Amino acid sequence: MKIIVLDGYTLNPGDISWKGIAALGELTVYDRTPIGLVAERIEGAEIVFTNKTPINREVIDNSTNLKFIGVLATGYNVVDVAAAKEKSILVSNIPTYGTMAVAQFAAALLLEMCHHVGSHSDDVRAGNWVGREDFCYWHHPLVELSGKNLGLIGFGRIGQAFGRIGQALGMNVLAFDDYRDDSLENDTLRYVSLDELLAKSDVISLHCPLFDSTKGIINAANIAKMKPGVMLINTSRGPLIVDQDLADALNNGRVAAAAVDVLSEEPPKADNPLLSARNCIVTPHIAWAPKEARIRLMDIATDNLAKFIGGTPQNIVNL
Ligand code: NAD
Repeated sequence: MKIIVLDGYTLNPGDISWKGIAALGELTVYDRTPIGLVAERIEGAEIVFTNKTPINREVIDNSTNLKFIGVLATGYNVVDVAAAKEKSILVSNIPTYGTMAVAQFAAALLLEMCHHVGSHSDDVRAGNWVGREDFCYWHHPLVELSGKNLGLIGFGRIGQAFGRIGQALGMNVLAFDDYRDDSLENDTLRYVSLDELLAKSDVISLHCPLFDSTKGIINAANIAKMKPGVMLINTSRGPLIVDQDLADALNNGRVAAAAVDVLSEEPPKADNPLLSARNCIVTPHIAWAPKEARIRLMDIATDNLAKFIGGTPQNIVNL
């Protein structure tokens, strides 16, 4: 059985192993695949793994042997799952490998916006504490989170994990999700409508998947409903935000700060407005990437394929 990995480099730049998947068939791993080469590279393969390389309807319709697409990530928006379903090709994702890694990273972004640890340290190491008049100084406003409202758009695995971190910091969690589990509510956590979340949150963090219904959910109209001075975090998917609308709100001070690990196009073009917006921290899509999480991802991807071959598929997103 021919198994192709289209873009294996980010999952395994060389510090973990493909041997589990290699044991299940004849494996070829490409570090990266330009979109124009996808059809050629998967020709004749029964199994294809992709992380961020798009597998669109045309590629799926023209595939000859394809039976299983394994997405090496939680978000599976790179695959046309409806087209795959029409051809009875199963698509699996990795739902749980990175819950704590991504929640921890969202917390790192939140704390960085509140304290600017990195830039204060850089400033000190550049010599700017030496010889000052006072024992301390800061060049950004410092923010205490206790008692503030943390609004979570999408309250699934990562949203809930980040919510618990927010509660540990003394924050009140306001959750908005299409699906409610009322048993999760307590003294410092309640479900609200999107409008109430936008109006009352001091910090808003995105944890919903990228669907047609969520694309551009952070736009000028919704930013206008937010508290002046709100802080925004995105560790989910870049296109949830209309980049120019957020950049405008940062530049005119309506939004005090933003920290995003994902952008609408990755890697971004040099003129992406968030790269130069005021008070905007941008990291290169690394929330998922601690080695512990990547090993877990590889193990689940291997298990997804083994279960598919064994006739008991799991983590299928297009049944
Ligand atoms: P999850 O499926 O457990 O949770 C997603 C939640 O969003 C669900 O509760 C769902 O009901 C809710 N939702 C769906 N549509 C919604 C809508 N229109 N409005 C509000 N809520 C809606 O997924 P998860 O494990 O928590 O992951 C969330 C997202 O994080 C993924 O879809 C992925 O895009 C992103 N992610 C990013 C990284 C990274 O490295 N930055 C890593 C892993 C996951």
